[in-house]
Amino acid sequence: MPENPPESGRSHSIETALTHAGRNPDNQFGFVNTPVYRGSTVLFKTLADLDAQSQAYLYGRAGNPTTESVESVVSELEGAYRTKLVPSGLAAITIALMSCLKAGDDVLITDSAYEPGRKFADGFLERMGVSVRFYDPRIGAGLSDLLQRNTRAVLAESPGSLTFEIQDIPALAAAAHAGGARLIVDNSWASPLYHRPLALGADIVVHAATKMFVGHSDAFAGTISATREAWDDIERLRTLLGFFTSGDEAFLVARGLRTLAIRMKEHQERAMEIAQWLEAQDEVAHVLHPALPSHPDHDLWKRDFTGAGSLFAFVLKPAPRSAVAAFVDHMQIFSMGYSWGGYESLCLPVTITKARTVVPWNEPGNLFRVHIGLEGVEDLKADLRAALERYARAR
Ligand SMILES: *Cc1c(COP(=O)(O)O)cnc(C)c1O
Repeated sequence: MPENPPESGRSHSIETALTHAGRNPDNQFGFVNTPVYRGSTVLFKTLADLDAQSQAYLYGRAGNPTTESVESVVSELEGAYRTKLVPSGLAAITIALMSCLKAGDDVLITDSAYEPGRKFADGFLERMGVSVRFYDPRIGAGLSDLLQRNTRAVLAESPGSLTFEIQDIPALAAAAHAGGARLIVDNSWASPLYHRPLALGADIVVHAATKMFVGHSDAFAGTISATREAWDDIERLRTLLGFFTSGDEAFLVARGLRTLAIRMKEHQERAMEIAQWLEAQDEVAHVLHPALPSHPDHDLWKRDFTGAGSLFAFVLKPAPRSAVAAFVDHMQIFSMGYSWGGYESLCLPVTITKARTVVPWNEPGNLFRVHIGLEGVEDLKADLRAALERYARAR
């Protein structure tokens, strides 16, 4: 596994940035890690200090040394002007969208977007007077044809949730910019280790830090990173809305980030091995993993990504719901649950018919999304082999 070399503007490899960025032991009595700061009130010594409003911290809601240490790491990884930590990945999506939009504007959202983000657009942005349209994730440069004079934001997610389409970020960015819109990219799957949307032309990058950054399924957080040009609108909106992330959550993100490179590498290798193995199994109709040569967007993935994540999906041959139950109900190592990114493997049966409005999902069979954790890969295969046998008997 080669190291990620320094990118333009960065003097060290990404592995070195992960271990060294955002720490300032001299300000923490020599302690290696920035500790958890908890605090609302910040004191001013004199009236002159209060009037000047020039202290590093004025009130805890704007942030503290723990949250800022995480933000500086993510900015360095994404090559961003700045980053803000927010309470969840969903909050990162909603704040990023709102930072670009006002009543009368139009937004284009990929049909493959994380479903709660879609629901926010339909259930809230529409009500606030924004017109919401969805687009084919594989539209690429064809996005130009959909842009209207009032289109101000385009939301992309690559690969897409559940169906794993890779999006042509440079083409989407060019089309969005020509029409005066900003491109927001959800980069949770690849992490900035394997995909850097700002370098490909995006304006804003969001992460469900809850997933790979935290890495242990024990905290919620999101990040919004942006170019200089897009930044002020994000910071203004976040301040107005009063979103705050505690030092406790920030500390867990910081702790997770330190080992992100080695975890991503291990997740990637295990997921790839299992995806290839699944492709050869009788009950499997189709594996949706962009790093497989069989994936329809494999060339695009190779062009824009330097690695792959832990998450992919597979379709089993058509069978009744009872066969799906036979598959998941007796697994020994995989468990069933939302979210992903922790050390433990997850397997979730999903139905996506209602979550697509532009490109209908009509592949026959049952779809499962898996997150490959850090268990022994042979144990994971044995668990899947037994599940496939139960499925075959129930089919
Ligand atoms: C989980 C997820 C989110 C939302 O993150 P939360 O922290 O759960 O709110 C956003 N985008 C993607 C791609 C996700 O998988």
